[in-house]
Amino acid sequence: MGKLFGKHQSRRQFVRQTTLTTGGLLVASVAHALERFESADLDTDGLGKTLATFGMSIQGNVLLAADADYDGMRRVLSFNPQTDKYPAIISQCKTTEDVARSIEFARTNNLEIAVRSGACDVMGQSTCEGGMVIDLSSLQKIELSVENRSVRVDAGVRCGALEYTLSDAGVVVPLACNPMVGISGLTLGGGLGWVLGKHGTTADNVIAMDIITADGDQLRASDKQNEDLFWALRGGGGNFGIVTAFEYQVHQLTEVYGGFLLYPIEMLGEYLQFYRDIMANAPDELMVELSISPSNPPMLVATACYSGNVTSSQAVLAPIRKFGPPLFDGIRPTKLSQLTAITKEVSNFITANSKPETGSPKESDGHYNHWRGATIPSWTDSAINTFVSCIEKAPAGWSVGVGHYMHGVPCAVNAQATPILRDEHSSSYFFNISWGHSSESEDSMAWVDRSIKDMQPFNRPGTYINYLSSNAPEAVADAYGKNYPRLRELKSKYDAENSFHLNRNIRA
Ligand SMILES: Cc1cc2nc3c(=O)[nH]c(=O)nc-3n(C[C@H](O)[C@H](O)[C@H](O)COP(=O)(O)OP(=O)(O)OC[C@H]3O[C@@H](n4cnc5c(N)ncnc54)[C@H](O)[C@@H]3O)c2cc1C
Repeated sequence: MGKLFGKHQSRRQFVRQTTLTTGGLLVASVAHALERFESADLDTDGLGKTLATFGMSIQGNVLLAADADYDGMRRVLSFNPQTDKYPAIISQCKTTEDVARSIEFARTNNLEIAVRSGACDVMGQSTCEGGMVIDLSSLQKIELSVENRSVRVDAGVRCGALEYTLSDAGVVVPLACNPMVGISGLTLGGGLGWVLGKHGTTADNVIAMDIITADGDQLRASDKQNEDLFWALRGGGGNFGIVTAFEYQVHQLTEVYGGFLLYPIEMLGEYLQFYRDIMANAPDELMVELSISPSNPPMLVATACYSGNVTSSQAVLAPIRKFGPPLFDGIRPTKLSQLTAITKEVSNFITANSKPETGSPKESDGHYNHWRGATIPSWTDSAINTFVSCIEKAPAGWSVGVGHYMHGVPCAVNAQATPILRDEHSSSYFFNISWGHSSESEDSMAWVDRSIKDMQPFNRPGTYINYLSSNAPEAVADAYGKNYPRLRELKSKYDAENSFHLNRNIRA
């Protein structure tokens, strides 16, 4: 139990116990935290009392190292030796006030701050060593106003949950292609998904945000209030404070025409050429994303989403089908919220066509993951050949993704409208690997790192910020291009001490 006072213990009993004992006798978890603080060279006098006061002042839980949930909660999706960190405190906030108090506590006690919503950061920046994770995943309210064509969403909501709620009302917000992704990190870094060409990035559809800055100011950012901050937050990442709620405009969309086409993995190179040519002339409403099925052998999955008029869908999708007969064709009218849910039909097909793994599987000692992405201006034949040869050298557990083709609405607005780059016809890709035993970490991670390096000559200098797995100053500056100087000015205005630096850090 993470709270500083137990479930069956009243606040008064807890306070009494802590006053009767010395600070170090509080509970085992606080003692453990004290050790950590000592090793972090902090002033530990009275820390137990301070922690207890903090724990009682918030409605959420405070998790410390000795707590049962701590080990699960310290882990992020991209968990690997680089992100295997032990925060001193995980503050599981339940209210906006909890967030404000957590920031204040961390800053007063010189604790490094990591901010977490969906925990999907590809660089695993939503955890830290010895500091405080401010976890917003319990903030889960969604308030849809169909009359105002808007939705107010708490920071802890994931894309899938929002998409499902909206689909009941026949409306959408442009979100990520993967339902697991948190709306917070997604929106603050731009947000590229199934209706990108038709409705723009997630950030383009934000009306307002509620944010708490490092100084504890609770601000509203919109095109009428704190306009400079509103601009910075629509792509500048977690650099300016902690956003507790987002308001988006919603768009009418009851159905899309889309789904999976499966091909043998050997066709990847040929399919990338086809993808390049098809997307160059695609209508704004068409997005196609390539991924790999988790099967033996792996299959190439092309997922199409056409969000235009259903009567023209057959004509629009006909060129996609021209590539050749797929192993499986699952394209049909569907709700957007159902698009990525693997239907029983597809999973049956994949299972029926998978061979059992040979050899005895290695015993697992965890779930590890490493993910790195980049942005490419165009898929030239040399880029495709290099990409395919990277995959030929992949160890078990690999996957790749290609998509987020930039066209249509996001490219029609001014390049300075929000901080992210919007180069027409560019697309993003990633190399990812998952493994189950720490002895495989080195080889698995080396494959991803080597592949990204091999592809370097073909990339655009600025990687889409949510796919950037580097905090190097030049990589962050490149990701924002001409918008970087303005972001730096705003960083010094809103977070001069760089309290929020576990992100793609903008240096003031
Ligand atoms: C499997 C997978 C699929 C993906 N698919 C897509 C996709 O289709 N389209 C796309 O555009 N991106 C995609 N991404 C990238 C994704 O957008 C980013 O990883 C994003 O940052 C995840 O947000 P999160 O809230 O889940 O992550 P978290 O790890 O919780 O947060 C990421 C970072 O955002 C900041 N942050 C988080 N919450 C807040 C907050 N409330 N206030 C201030 N700062 C905050 C912090 O700096 C934090 O380190 C994908 C990533 C993965 C792993």
